[in-house]
Amino acid sequence: MTQVLVLIDPGTSTVTTADLASPQLPVTDLAAHRGDGIFETVLVRVNPDTREATVVSRERHFARFHSSASALDLPEPDRKLWRQAVDRLIAEAIAANPETTEFAVRYTLSRGGDAPRGWAFTVPIEDAIVTARAEGVSAVSVDRGYDAYVGRRAPWLLLGAKTLSYAVNQAALRYAKAQGADEALFISRDGVVLEGPTANIVIRRGDHLLTPDPAAGLLAGTTQRLLFDHAGRLELKADYADLSVDDVLSADGAWLVSSVRTAVTLRALDGKSLSRDEALTREFQRIIAAG
Ligand code: PLP
Repeated sequence: MTQVLVLIDPGTSTVTTADLASPQLPVTDLAAHRGDGIFETVLVRVNPDTREATVVSRERHFARFHSSASALDLPEPDRKLWRQAVDRLIAEAIAANPETTEFAVRYTLSRGGDAPRGWAFTVPIEDAIVTARAEGVSAVSVDRGYDAYVGRRAPWLLLGAKTLSYAVNQAALRYAKAQGADEALFISRDGVVLEGPTANIVIRRGDHLLTPDPAAGLLAGTTQRLLFDHAGRLELKADYADLSVDDVLSADGAWLVSSVRTAVTLRALDGKSLSRDEALTREFQRIIAAG
């Protein structure tokens, strides 16, 4: 896929197309050496006949972007400017890639240097994601190092914000891969299941879909929210719950869900096989594809 980039200047409310292969960011930008900024990654689906694009959960993403900005004391993002930027990027991506039916867009607001700066670029869907959607993934549980609900007394941990500081998440993923697993699953110090490094976990227990409460210290996922909003149509109830590793192991189905991977079956945790509900996996994937 030919990737494309736009730069967004919140100060002047302008969007400009730029060359992704050329340097764009001063090394002094606070995103570069402090991870001081926020981002969103949205899935874009392109109708093969009309070439019309759908941004999955566009408003859910923007709402989280808005609340992440507020958590970091960044200026309130202007909805019109960011929508214009994403739409421009998508139009250019579709023009540059006439065959593409699916890609992701990552949009970022950095605290910048003298002033905040933004950008957005397209990201191709990796083969590993396509495989995970079809075959599911394995995970190992990893200690997150703090108790559940710690954010209530330590809001500066920014646990509910989607910040650029992902080094810890990347390290957990490398640890999981070194153990022979595809994914990590963070567990709080006091034994509450939290999330994966880039995904939420959803389980089915009987006619209930359950997912950890974002207040426990994890990101409120747009994909989890989308699926829960459709639970009624699947004749399922949906709730937040404090789950243990045993709850995941004894579930009737478990999934890692996020914007780009969509919903993937969690096949095994800590080397133990889980029950699979592939019919529901397909339903979840269909709901997400419909946006
Ligand atoms: N949790 C973390 C830490 C994430 O990075 C992500 C997404 O990348 C998610 C959960 C899932 O969020 P969403 O469904 O909005 O993509």
